[in-house]
Amino acid sequence: MKPAPVKYLAADSLEQAVDVLASFGDEAKLIAGGQSLVPMLNMRLAQPEVLVDISRLAELRDAVQGPVSVLYGATTTHGRIEDGAVPDVGGGLLAAVASGIGYRAVRNRGTLAGSLAHADASAEWPVVLAALGATIHVRSVRGTRELPAAGFLRGFFTSALESDEVIVAVEVPVLGPDVTWGYLKFARKDGEFAESLAVAVLRWVDGQIANSELWLGAASGIPLAVVLPEDVIHGTGEVVARTDLVNAVSGLVGAARTAEDRYRLNLHVTTLSRALRQAVQRRSAHDVAV
Ligand SMILES: Cc1cc2nc3c(=O)[nH]c(=O)nc-3n(C[C@H](O)[C@H](O)[C@H](O)COP(=O)(O)OP(=O)(O)OC[C@H]3O[C@@H](n4cnc5c(N)ncnc54)[C@H](O)[C@@H]3O)c2cc1C
Repeated sequence: MKPAPVKYLAADSLEQAVDVLASFGDEAKLIAGGQSLVPMLNMRLAQPEVLVDISRLAELRDAVQGPVSVLYGATTTHGRIEDGAVPDVGGGLLAAVASGIGYRAVRNRGTLAGSLAHADASAEWPVVLAALGATIHVRSVRGTRELPAAGFLRGFFTSALESDEVIVAVEVPVLGPDVTWGYLKFARKDGEFAESLAVAVLRWVDGQIANSELWLGAASGIPLAVVLPEDVIHGTGEVVARTDLVNAVSGLVGAARTAEDRYRLNLHVTTLSRALRQAVQRRSAHDVAV
């Protein structure tokens, strides 16, 4: 199909983009990489009156490295993260994530903020950025807001963003030497969306797990934080029993009643357990190296 007729405006400035969103309300849509929006326009699932193109705004493109965090401009593409053209927050996690998104052509144009605003819980960034404790900086004519990435998705393709707000940047804390990560995406074919997505971020004190962030994607309409009882994930984290992971995950996705449910539950438990193992093994490798 072809999109319905739509006015196109290449914004000259962030100010202009914000003003147009304020005056058109739901009838205006931002376009960044177009990798999610254009298919929706083609299928006429979205029929805005005006498209506001923010992809050429220099003020949204840069990444700024600070002492404790990196501020990624909204239009930072997956490809630039994959290529290391912007700073990584540590240990190559963001590059590993970016390189698994769609195909290179998608990654050349698709953006960090576009992925968040599209609010698909099977997409990588909403899950990974929640696990990393990132903060989303947004702007509208009403002012600025900072929203935690954890909780940013509110339901199926729904986020905390108001229709007149622009994501201007995403701030991600730098991972210290006491933090390790594990990440696993399962998709049947390269280039496809995840069937399951797991991220583990562990903070260590004296060789023991002091804090864990375990997150699952593609398991529900929102990224899911998996909370294990303290006596289950402690010490060196080497022996988290599969039954404990099954209990924690089924508590979030519901009891498995059908063979399909059991397949999905097992898949999520497996991706989570492998992400956790990776994070634990990175710690062991670090201990050997120092
Ligand atoms: C073949 C294919 C495979 C893909 N595979 C994957 C995959 O495996 N994993 C994955 O995560 N994604 C995948 N994607 C989606 C891709 O990552 C998109 O790039 C991303 O979801 C949207 O980014 P975009 O810049 O293209 O946004 P656009 O398509 O331009 O916009 C998407 C939405 O975000 C809004 N928006 C854009 N920028 C902003 C902003 N700064 N502030 C507020 N709202 C904004 C738009 O108005 C629109 O509603 C795939 C896409 C394709 C076509």
